[in-house]
Parts: sequence; structure tokens; C-alpha cells
Amino acid sequence: MPLPRSAATGKLKNRHGIAIVGAGLSGLTAAHFIAQWSNIPITIFESDSHPGGRVSTSQSPPGEHGARYLLGSELDVTPGTKYWRDYGLPDGRNIRALFRTLKVRVTRFGGKDWPRWCLLSPFRSMRLDPTGKNLLKDFRAAATLIGRLQSEMNPDNGKFKDWIKTSCLLEGKSLTIIKMILAGESCAPWTHLSTAYALECLASAVNANEKWFQIRGGSTALIDNLSRPFHERICWNSACTRVTTVSGDTVQVTYKNSRGLNRSYFDGAIVSSSDGDALTGQYTFRRHFHSYISMLFEFDAKPRLLKIPTADLCSGLYTDDRLVNYLELEDTKRSTRRWVFRILIPDAGKFLRWSDKDLETRCVKTLMRLGLNGKPLNAPSVKRWANGLPCGGTRRSYDRVSEKVYLCGDRYGRWPSMAAAIVSGARAAEALLSELEK
Ligand SMILES: Cc1cc2nc3c(=O)[nH]c(=O)nc-3n(C[C@H](O)[C@H](O)[C@H](O)COP(=O)(O)OP(=O)(O)OC[C@H]3O[C@@H](n4cnc5c(N)ncnc54)[C@H](O)[C@@H]3O)c2cc1C
Repeated sequence: MPLPRSAATGKLKNRHGIAIVGAGLSGLTAAHFIAQWSNIPITIFESDSHPGGRVSTSQSPPGEHGARYLLGSELDVTPGTKYWRDYGLPDGRNIRALFRTLKVRVTRFGGKDWPRWCLLSPFRSMRLDPTGKNLLKDFRAAATLIGRLQSEMNPDNGKFKDWIKTSCLLEGKSLTIIKMILAGESCAPWTHLSTAYALECLASAVNANEKWFQIRGGSTALIDNLSRPFHERICWNSACTRVTTVSGDTVQVTYKNSRGLNRSYFDGAIVSSSDGDALTGQYTFRRHFHSYISMLFEFDAKPRLLKIPTADLCSGLYTDDRLVNYLELEDTKRSTRRWVFRILIPDAGKFLRWSDKDLETRCVKTLMRLGLNGKPLNAPSVKRWANGLPCGGTRRSYDRVSEKVYLCGDRYGRWPSMAAAIVSGARAAEALLSELEK
């Protein structure tokens, strides 16, 4: 419910109002809802020179480096459903409604049943044996059942890799498929996953009813529309180093910019950056992140993998190679037809310091080994994410770390996604405003 504007403003002691750390999706969503529900002034600190964080649309070649897909279930949530409990926004509206307000349009992703198709397609030619096929079906049933049991009972948070060893007899290809599904769904190495979370991811991946959407004009269209009203209120190239409550009603934000170390005082703060736990000294909530590198390659002919004749890559492909985990193709619909291919390198810690040229050489070599018919036209566009995606899931939407200081971000979600970031930002905004009201 919106708070009475005058009441919220009336209680303020500091003229700066609320500080938001990070102009990514969760921080900007928090700013959007605070502005909707109150007149409290907002200041946003952003360490970069532009908004968006892990939402990053490339112009040349065109494509997404970061977030691209939205699940239908994340958009179409309606009150009363399971998804409503997981994703419902605090003012009783869903993400589609938020997009309507922001004039952000989505389109159905035109590929085949992604990601199921692209996961299984390359394996068709390998003649998946019946055990493998049954295993996927069994996993669906088991995941649903065990997920329910776990939500009702004390969750078994043992490691999935131990559980799978003792619970199933797996032949090699089935295990490979499971690992690949988990890599795509959980965005983390499978050895890191708890049994509960891994089963939840598997159940979601094999849900054939799920539809996929993307934002028209690229994911940054959402960021542009969210950030526009706050451009004057964003302190660019300002990296926060500490956020603390210095007395019961004042929050001190320490930040570094070109003028050195500065301090400002606020009535409350929402910290949306992935280093938020460290900034607020709250190591108990810490969730580790995996690094990713995204590379966009351009081709003038539709690339195919010659060694796997059924895979034409138009809907993507997972491989279990450590380097090339995920490939994606897009017709850029220009006068001369071009194809843009995204290669997402997971667990990329050791590659972060590599030069673009070295990364390119290694990727092209791997693609050639997979039998790619053709060569990229130009050097790729490269983006490095040291804090790419958080590992594991949580059912909390935010944490209150001290008086009037809240943490939010995509690590507060069942799995990391734009939807998780939006919901987390919105819920943290609601919680902080309610506290300021008291
Ligand atoms: C390669 C990749 C592919 C993805 N694909 C999808 C997808 O298809 N669909 C989907 O839904 N999601 C996807 N995601 C996840 C999605 O991008 C994220 O969940 C979401 O963007 C996270 O938003 P956020 O606001 O929580 O964090 P961020 O986007 O990381 O925002 C945090 C902001 O804080 C700033 N910041 C950091 N530290 C400081 C500091 N000390 N002081 C001030 N500012 C600071 C950062 O610069 C950043 O702008 C993908 C992510 C990656 C990396």
C-alpha cells in the first residue's frame, strides 16, 4: 500500500532523505517505488559511469551481455498463486503491471522451447539411452514431490553431488545432461548446490509450460525508463565504501569519487550492490558470486556445428566444456544479414585478467573444435563480470542489517534474475518506508 506522502516526509531529520547504493535493477526499482509512495528525497550512488549493472545491451554488435530472458511465470503472476507468494510486488501488482507503468514492452522469445530444446537437441544424435530419458521424467516428478516435502519439513541442505551419488544410479550421459541443466538454471557449478536448491532448479528446467520473453529494444530499455527520473539524483563514479547507522536515526554513507573520500548523512539506506554485505559489515548474510565473461561474435552466415548435424544453434547450445558453456544466436535483421552469437564463459575467475585478444583466440579455437562452419567477422565485444551471478537461492527478499539499513539485490531470490532484483528492490523500499513511518 502506498504510504501517505506527507506523513513519511514529515518524519525526516536529514534533508538528504534516503540513500540507495547501486543503480542496477534492484536499486532503481527501490528508487522507483520510494518516489511513487513518498516525497522523500533520494540520492543514488553508482560506482560506474552509467546505470544498469548486470543489465547491459551492446549496440555493436547488437545483443545482450547480461540479462536477456524473462520467464512468463515471472511476468504473469496473479494474486493467490504460488508465484504470487514468490514474486508478488508489495503494492499488489505484478511485474507486467510495473512494465506497463514504465512503458516497457516485452516480446515472446521466438526460438523453440528454450532451454529444453537446446539442451536436448545436441544429444539427439548421440542416441540418448532409455535410462537417460526416464531420468528426466523421474526428475520432474521427484523434484516436485521432494520440493514440496522440503518446504513442509526441515529442508535437507546436504550437497546435491553427495545426494545424487547415493540416490540414483547414473549412466554418464544422463549425469552430463543434469549438470548442463543445472549450469543453465542455477548459474553455478553443480558441486556448489544444495539438494533442495538443485531439485528446485531441475523441476523448473523441465517445466515444458514455461514461456520466455525478452524486452523490446534490449534489456537496457527497462533501465533507461527506470533511471530517467533520477538522473539528477545519481552520483556517478561514486563507489561506497561503508554504510552504517551512526545513531538511531542517522545513516552515514562513506563514498569515494574524484574528490576523494566523502561522507553524507541520510534517514535510511538501501544497499543493492553485490558487495553490500561487506559495505554494511554484515558477513553473516554473505552469498558468494561466480564470475562470468560474455562475448558477442558476429557472423555473416548462420553458424552451425558440423560435428552435431541436428544442432543449428538457432536456439542456443550448452556444452560441458568449461569455456564455452552457452551459445546463442540472433538474426540482427539488418540489410546485410548478420548473426550474433553470445558465448558465456561461466566460472570465469581465472580468465578475468586475460586480454580481449587472448579470450577471442581461445573461444574461436573451442568453436572450431566443436566443428563451427565459419569464422567471426570482427573482434568480439567483451564484458567481464567479476560478480556475475550469486550461488544458491533464498526465499528472503531482503535483509535489514541495522536500523534503517536494508540489503537487496538478485541474491535475494529463488534464483538470480531480473525478476528477483525487481522484487527485492521493491520489498526493501516498502520495508524501509514502513520503518521511517514508525
Ligand atoms: C551474464 C549474465 C546473464 C544473465 N542473464 C539473465 C537473464 O537472461 N534473465 C534474467 O532475468 N537475469 C539474468 N541475469 C541476472 C540479472 O542480470 C541480475 O539478476 C540483475 O541484473 C541483478 O540486478 P541487481 O540490481 O541486483 O545487481 P546489479 O545489476 O549488479 O546492480 C548493482 C549496481 O551497483 C553498482 N555498485 C557495485 N558496487 C558498488 C559500490 N560499492 N558503490 C556504488 N555502486 C556500486 C554496480 O555498478 C551496479 O550498477 C544475468 C546475469 C549475467 C551476469
